[in-house]
Amino acid sequence: MFEIRAKDGLGRIGRLQINGKTVETPALMPVINPKKAEISPRELQEEFKTQIVITNAYIIYQSHLREEALQKGVHALLDFDGVVETDSGSFQLMTYGNIDVTNEEIIRFQNDIGSDVSTFLDIPTVPGATFEQAEKDLEITVKRAKEAQKFKKGAMNGTVQGGRFLPLRKKASKIVGKMEFDIHPIGAVVPFLLKYQFTPLVDIILTCKKFLPVEKPVHLFGAGHPLVLAFAVLLGCDLFDSAAYILYAKGHRYLTPFGTRNLEDLLYFPCECPVCTHTDPEVVSTLPEPEIIQFLTRHNLYATFTELHKIKQAIHEGSLWELVESRIRNHPNLYESYKIIRKYTLFMEKFEPFTKRTGFFYTGKETKYRPVYKRVKTRIAFVDKDVFDHPVFGKVPVSLSQTYPFHTDEVFDISEEEIIKGICIYQFGSKAASLFDSTKIAHGRTGKIRHLYQDKTLLATLRPMDGLFVLTFEGAEKLHALLPFPERRVTADEEACPFVKEGKDLFAKFVIHIDKNLRCYEEALITDDTDALLGVGKLMLSPEEVKSFNKGVAVQCRRGVNAVHNP
Ligand SMILES: [Zn+2]
Repeated sequence: MFEIRAKDGLGRIGRLQINGKTVETPALMPVINPKKAEISPRELQEEFKTQIVITNAYIIYQSHLREEALQKGVHALLDFDGVVETDSGSFQLMTYGNIDVTNEEIIRFQNDIGSDVSTFLDIPTVPGATFEQAEKDLEITVKRAKEAQKFKKGAMNGTVQGGRFLPLRKKASKIVGKMEFDIHPIGAVVPFLLKYQFTPLVDIILTCKKFLPVEKPVHLFGAGHPLVLAFAVLLGCDLFDSAAYILYAKGHRYLTPFGTRNLEDLLYFPCECPVCTHTDPEVVSTLPEPEIIQFLTRHNLYATFTELHKIKQAIHEGSLWELVESRIRNHPNLYESYKIIRKYTLFMEKFEPFTKRTGFFYTGKETKYRPVYKRVKTRIAFVDKDVFDHPVFGKVPVSLSQTYPFHTDEVFDISEEEIIKGICIYQFGSKAASLFDSTKIAHGRTGKIRHLYQDKTLLATLRPMDGLFVLTFEGAEKLHALLPFPERRVTADEEACPFVKEGKDLFAKFVIHIDKNLRCYEEALITDDTDALLGVGKLMLSPEEVKSFNKGVAVQCRRGVNAVHNP
């Protein structure tokens, strides 16, 4: 029910399908107060293209709306036909310490009102709790998670608790990750967000991500401020919810991706949303109070959704790291928290794409914290000794001066054969050094290497965008002959082989083996279980994801064997 469409960092554009409805992630669910919505779910759907909202089942259960919800269902109650997620009252439990409903009752109630994604009654650990208290809370949460499996009807949240204690978050992620849940919220993080304590928050998110199943979407429960969205997406969070748009509006606070401003302090609106462009802060301040709140509610939503669009575009073009490095400069604690990613380099590197649609930009010394830094150090160690001083990566082989992420304007005296060999080793490993020996080079209009031929057969094209080779089937055959199994291979199930041979994409669920050293967006050799080459294409996921996902394309096949040998 969840598939990945594009990746950058641990961030992903995903497609989540629930009850026949589709949500594109990363997605923000506006929190709807079932008693009195400041902005109607219908308007959210029409004006903001909201595909998913969240409301509180416990509030409905406790109020006069209960019977109506049971009769009409929660969608009709809210007048919203997208995905409705419901919370169980855990937040009320944390705030008031006690609520009068059992885990079973609130799950059954969510089933009865037709919630698309329900939530069991987990225990959010309060901020100041000791380890012992947090551990006790977690025990109850796990017990209730097990109980919830019995009553689960549709999709359900498997919330990860554990307070600020990483060993407990790890334990919780492993336990609930093995159960039949559909989405994994990371719970009880609001206190960190409210106090701008981003360092422990980043540690918690990455610990959970490391131990949760990679194929399940992760919801950062209670997070929805545009300031933190880009970073949270980079860390692998797929879903967010926001009551901030309305709570902040009531406090006359104006949300922006660079922080919160008080309406009274603004002389200009730094925003081009439909409500801000037609007025100014002075005019808005003179409006009656309900209209000020209406104005700020809408602006806050526009600001949040606009930030989400920027994030998605950044994932598509491979500039999410750059976006995050600009966002973290908007709060000193956010900037400080970025250092934590160094602790998780090995984990994050496995998911980091090999190449991007946009160039690599150095934004400051923290750029070196990116996992790609460590990766390229390992990969270039095998390339030739003729090096230049790269401002970010240090000593880099001259042969890679036009290849991602090393692009430089400097010009070097180097033969085309050396360039080709250097790129081959960087891209395919030292065993592939001779891959394009004695090929014929065709040049592009700018005079750069463009195509490599053997006799009249095209073997590869050097892609101008990233200076990496794109293989034809014949080029792939040569690489296949040079590299022993399992290097560069993605092995297809018998059932999928005929399709790959025709040049059709290979889906993740039909992969029976994959070279764990491959990285997303690299060239991959598609083989059958006898290691016969069936096709060549671009790997769309990381090996861990290929193994875990049941939906989505693993290798975008460029050419199948049949097109070449039985044309
Ligand atoms: Zn605005």
